[in-house]
Amino acid sequence: MIYPWFEFATILESFVHEVIDIDLSVLPNGAYVFNGVERRGASGKTCWYIPLSFHEAKLLGVERDDVGLKVIRYPVYNDIKDEHARLLQEFTIQKILFTNDMAPDVFKILLIRNGKPNSVSWLGQKIEYPTGSVFFAMLVANVNVHGILTGVKANSSGGLSGPKINSFRERCRQLRIDPYDLTIENLYEVKGRLGVLDVHKWRRTYGMRFVNVPKYLQIELNNTCNGRCGMCAIPHMTRPRGIMSDVLFEKILKEADSLDVEYLTPFLHGEPFMRQDFVEKLHKINEYAPKAKITIFTNASMLDEKKVAALCNVKNIDQIVFSFPGGNKHVYEDTTGLNFENSVLNIKRAFRVLKDFNLRISMPRSEQNRDSEKDFAVLWNGYPHSAYDTYNYLGDARGSLAPCCYEQCDRAFRTMTVLFDGRVCLCCMDAEGRFIMGDLSKESVIDVWNGKRFMKLREEHGCCRLACEPCRRCTQDLKTEEYNDAYHPSLV
Ligand code: SF4
Ligand code: SF4
Repeated sequence: MIYPWFEFATILESFVHEVIDIDLSVLPNGAYVFNGVERRGASGKTCWYIPLSFHEAKLLGVERDDVGLKVIRYPVYNDIKDEHARLLQEFTIQKILFTNDMAPDVFKILLIRNGKPNSVSWLGQKIEYPTGSVFFAMLVANVNVHGILTGVKANSSGGLSGPKINSFRERCRQLRIDPYDLTIENLYEVKGRLGVLDVHKWRRTYGMRFVNVPKYLQIELNNTCNGRCGMCAIPHMTRPRGIMSDVLFEKILKEADSLDVEYLTPFLHGEPFMRQDFVEKLHKINEYAPKAKITIFTNASMLDEKKVAALCNVKNIDQIVFSFPGGNKHVYEDTTGLNFENSVLNIKRAFRVLKDFNLRISMPRSEQNRDSEKDFAVLWNGYPHSAYDTYNYLGDARGSLAPCCYEQCDRAFRTMTVLFDGRVCLCCMDAEGRFIMGDLSKESVIDVWNGKRFMKLREEHGCCRLACEPCRRCTQDLKTEEYNDAYHPSLV
């Protein structure tokens, strides 16, 4: 069996922290040759632990001499994204365990590239890795695999029992980590307690997920609006107003396409049709990121006959949501500063013309307009419509109704939000851009997404947002997608 390789080396390199070239061969006796030197280390079913000399470790940026490489012995060959996502998860879990004296430390994820052809038997199958085969690896503290275990019993079916095991399981439970492969070979002693050598396939339970690419990309083409809705952060926004440059927009779209971003929302804080070239920008999305589905939110006030006709020719529009914050003329105009009849006319026309589109009318419910909800339902009877309690935009909106929410939020794990100047903010709730994660005018989408700030946020956010600033102050209640949706079981 020969794994096809490997046209997408450049893509691979964008997914990892570092790429190193080594000569790695596995000998029939189970030893391996690493950069010309035969060694023996630990060899698990799915990985090798290769001890490194101080000199080798230093070349990899680690100034200590007890370091080893954990090489995943399954080469990367067709689904780098899944594999990288899985490794990021493993990396994080191992870090959590390490800080609790339950596993060796890990420093970073690497890609290693085979300098010579290699042939190994693995799981009863002979596998040839041609020159240039690429493996994922982690730099880990090089533990003594043969540490003595006392007080641990393995029963006939391989299950473990005893007070130390019970205590170990309890600590995993407290950390909300699900030990998948707790075998006697996989345990060692650290500071008098049990530690686990290989956390491969362990999971953070209760929905802590890491994905290596954003599923949703929200892009602020402009932060200007003709409305002045009381429950929105726009009217009081203090950051500068502006529009995104074409160069930056196209750069982001190209990257989104290469990462298979599924949904693009060319709107954040502001009315998208304020830009005269908005429909042109939708065509640009189709040109540069043709796989992405487009979602549009608009107050409809500027959606005249010409613009609706132009929308007919735009492909890949997943849905258009008309925001309509008021059930009657008085409340609507008082809330938005927009003309009631004009917006109603435009929305009804859009429903007539855009017959094949997925359209919906949404009422953001606030203190200002809540009493008109019944009128809203009557007004839009026969049209798909719904209402929701407005969020607090981390304190930047007035009159919001949504109560405090402590559950895990999906945004930090799935959505990247880009301000018009290229800065990536925390999410759509960060209207002022106070929590900046990176800058797409200087960095790539993937670097920012997997960068230290997002990783720290996800780590702190965990399964419950209470420990995470500023998420603990946020009332956005977007539910997380199922853990299993993002966990990719692979390998053996
Ligand atoms: S809710 Fe929409 S229409 Fe109203 S001010 Fe905010 S962006 Fe503008
Ligand atoms: S909890 Fe709120 S502030 Fe935090 S990521 Fe989710 S939407 Fe944003």
